[in-house]
Parts: sequence; C-alpha cells; structure tokens
Amino acid sequence: MIADHASPCRVCLRDAAIGEPVLLGSYHLPRPRGTYWTPSPIFVHADACAPFDAADEIAPIPRPRMISARAYDATDQCLYGLGFAGEGTEIDTRLARALDDPRTTSVNVHTAKPGCLLCWVERL
Ligand SMILES: [Zn+2]
Repeated sequence: MIADHASPCRVCLRDAAIGEPVLLGSYHLPRPRGTYWTPSPIFVHADACAPFDAADEIAPIPRPRMISARAYDATDQCLYGLGFAGEGTEIDTRLARALDDPRTTSVNVHTAKPGCLLCWVERL
C-alpha cells in the first residue's frame, strides 16, 4: 500500500513518509508467551531499509504518537502497575520506571489506538 499517514516501519524504526510504499502485515511476536501473547499489525518499508541497530537507546518512533507500553516479568506475566498509555514523549520516564523494577524483563510498546508494534525493549 501507499502510506497515507506516518507509518512506523518495524525494520528501520522510522516513519514511512506519506506517499512511500509500505507493506502491512501481521507479526507473530516471540514474547510474551502464554496468556498475554497477541499478534501485532506492523508496517515495513516496501523498499529495503537499514535495520535499527542501537543499544541503550530508544528508537524515535514512539515519541510523536500515543502509545501503550506493557511490562512483563521473566515468566511473561504482565506487570499491570508498570503499564502506561499516553503520549510517546513520556517514554523515557515510563521505561525507566518499568526497568527500575527488578521484576521487569521486557516492555513492548505499541501504538495506543491500532495496536501496531513499535518496539520491544529487553533488559540485557
Ligand atoms: Zn524501514
């Protein structure tokens, strides 16, 4: 399809510009497993793009949109008190809070409304 809005690419973790060709598919997330597992719609640039490859850095794509972030423990149980739905500009503070809790092993970040996976954060 041709992007008709800022579509977050799951490979380069940048927004596709309006008018850029993108693929829309359903992604089988490897985690969380069990009760909280769910597939996620994702966009990918139709043309090859360089994968995002940075450590200790939050990709830019959550920042300009409403997001939902869910924290999980080592057994893939959702840590309800550490979840967040709101402005992506708050992601640094919200991720720091979730990762300060020693139970948190990962956090997934989606768009708040359509639920597209934006990024997956793991404690290394
Ligand atoms: Zn891309």
